[in-house]
Amino acid sequence: MATILHQPSETLVALLQRDFGLSSFRVNQEVVCRAVIQGRDVLLVMPTGAGKSLCFQLPGIARGGTTLVISPLIALMEDQAAKLASLGFSVARIHSGLDRALSRQACAEYLSGALQFLFIAPERLRVPGFIEMLAKRKPSLIAIDEAHCISQWGHDFRPDYRMLGQFVPALRPAPVIALTATATSRVQDDIIAQLGMADASRFIYGFRRENLGIEVVEMSPSLRPTFVADLLHDPARRPAIVYALTRKQAEALAAQLSSKFPSAAYHAGLDPRLRESVQQEFQQGRLHAVVATVAFGMGIDKADVRTIVHTSLPGTLEAYYQEIGRAGRDGLPSRAILLYSYADRKMHEFFFERDYPPVEELDRVYRRLGDEPLEKEYLRAKLRMESDLFDRVLEKLVIHGGGAVDFEENAVRGAQGWRDSYAAESQRRKAQLDLAMQYAESSQCRMTSLIRHFGDLTDARRPCGHCDVCAPHACVARRFRAPDESEKQTAWAVIHSLKKSSAGSTGRLHKDMFPREQVSRDAFENLLQALAGAGLVRLEELTFEKDGRTIAYRRASLTQEGEELPPTDPLDFVLPDSSNHVAPARRKNEGKRSGTGTSSKTATTPARPLDTSEMSAHAAAIEDKLRAWRLAAARKHGVPAYCIVGNKTMRDIAQQRPITLEQLQCVSGIGPSKAEKFGEEICRICAQP
Ligand code: ADP
Ligand code: MG
Repeated sequence: MATILHQPSETLVALLQRDFGLSSFRVNQEVVCRAVIQGRDVLLVMPTGAGKSLCFQLPGIARGGTTLVISPLIALMEDQAAKLASLGFSVARIHSGLDRALSRQACAEYLSGALQFLFIAPERLRVPGFIEMLAKRKPSLIAIDEAHCISQWGHDFRPDYRMLGQFVPALRPAPVIALTATATSRVQDDIIAQLGMADASRFIYGFRRENLGIEVVEMSPSLRPTFVADLLHDPARRPAIVYALTRKQAEALAAQLSSKFPSAAYHAGLDPRLRESVQQEFQQGRLHAVVATVAFGMGIDKADVRTIVHTSLPGTLEAYYQEIGRAGRDGLPSRAILLYSYADRKMHEFFFERDYPPVEELDRVYRRLGDEPLEKEYLRAKLRMESDLFDRVLEKLVIHGGGAVDFEENAVRGAQGWRDSYAAESQRRKAQLDLAMQYAESSQCRMTSLIRHFGDLTDARRPCGHCDVCAPHACVARRFRAPDESEKQTAWAVIHSLKKSSAGSTGRLHKDMFPREQVSRDAFENLLQALAGAGLVRLEELTFEKDGRTIAYRRASLTQEGEELPPTDPLDFVLPDSSNHVAPARRKNEGKRSGTGTSSKTATTPARPLDTSEMSAHAAAIEDKLRAWRLAAARKHGVPAYCIVGNKTMRDIAQQRPITLEQLQCVSGIGPSKAEKFGEEICRICAQP
């Protein structure tokens, strides 16, 4: 097996072409393959669909011998095994869905050295003697797919995965590659610690999705179903996947959508055959929308999903990112829209209490356990515990080492230390919820926030240019409006105040400026966010520690553009339009928006939905070109698009179509410096027929 190590690049490509039938490596695959072939332990974090499997498959073939693949989902395993077999590799798998004879045969083949790949489900490791059997003939590579399942900090923890840490040493010296699409820095550390691969190289790539525009909209729960129906009414926004919080909600929303276009619900309570058929119908385009509660989309490979909607706050950003990642695999522009409100937080707290029983309940079970294995059902009856609760309690005990359950469902007592570990996990879970809420309320580029969350700091600077923070004008769900005079005045006051003081918390700033709440805190935060959107103010989400607790706050300061803003500048910014919460969709000719409690302000100020039908087609075309140019310029200069020119300014340019620098400077929002920097390019675009 050593013969093929340290190959020049051509040889790996040749192997790729000959054995895998692929013409070239995708970005980053080759460097990972090289590390694995050289025998290094590797942690690979790349988004779903990026091509992680190849990063163990090709090294496995290059190293020779058998690659052992541990995978948590039978469907994934079957799929991968079938693909490898169709490429002509010798593959076997062992999991609970196969009969014993096949498993025995797989073991025999493994021991004879005939296999190139052996897939196993993690619960196999609990079968007495199984690891010893594997260890009789060492694998040449160990691949652990969906490795985040090993970490209780991950969003999909599997107790069986935790045991991998105990068993890997018996299978060494093979290198280990752990692969996952979702792992925060914390989860990455945990995977590495659990698997005992302290020297592992970490490869963390590709969290930026260039074609995905993310919007986050605060909306009361009762308005959401109709909102979603209106949003998806436009065929260009379909196919769509909608994530709902409960089965009931999923059913109800699917029924509502079905009256407009073919839609179905998908959740764990459905008959597996029905679920399978929903997946297939969606995959084949007969269903336009699926409303799901669970990780719908895991097994499907649909490239043209245009919209992902979350009808409530997700429990973790990991799950959220994975879900929005199912949009736009074809590279075409796609949207991910998250609807949330503080009420969602309460809902999650309710779930939390259900999923994390009080420590006293764990204690009751723990005290009953002993060194002699007790049948689970017997134990439950003795304790007179309701079975859902009992299962959850026992599961938690096992996870935290307070107990163990063998393959025949007998429980024994574990070690004392489970309490601390359980408390830490509960806290961690709560913190994940806090992070999701902070994300929703944040005023930073959505994509950048997510990239940073996943620990890819090399790529966490550049704003995406498409989200509700970077590009309010491009929003399909969030609505914005122009400020009125008093809001403009407040905005100027804020800018002056920030000019005088150094950066401080927004709470402090509000207190100093409006000690008697002349402007409410909410309105103030909205205004700051709008100024941040206009590129004048920088907002940072920070934390500090107090009495052992982490306290989040937001800090405001002026950007360079804010510092240099001439006092005569007609401030160009937009505020969130709260009528959004009432009648979200732009429905023409439907008369007035149904107003419940909208302020007179929103009623009299024309909303700025940037409805292009009001413009001439030519102006609209120019605006599109300007927008494309602006995005490119923003990327080139590494600044948000609105720093190049504001939306209103861009719109005015499109309507006035200046073709000389003098004409251009007549457009409000364009001063001499902007004209000098960008004037030529803008005029060139405007001069186009
Ligand atoms: P992941 O595990 O990262 O979600 P997969 O390994 O399942 O992704 O790969 C996703 C798809 O990409 C598969 O259909 C695979 O065949 C394809 N793929 C992977 N690498 C390449 C490549 N270098 N060239 C072309 N297709 C590739
Ligand atoms: Mg995979």
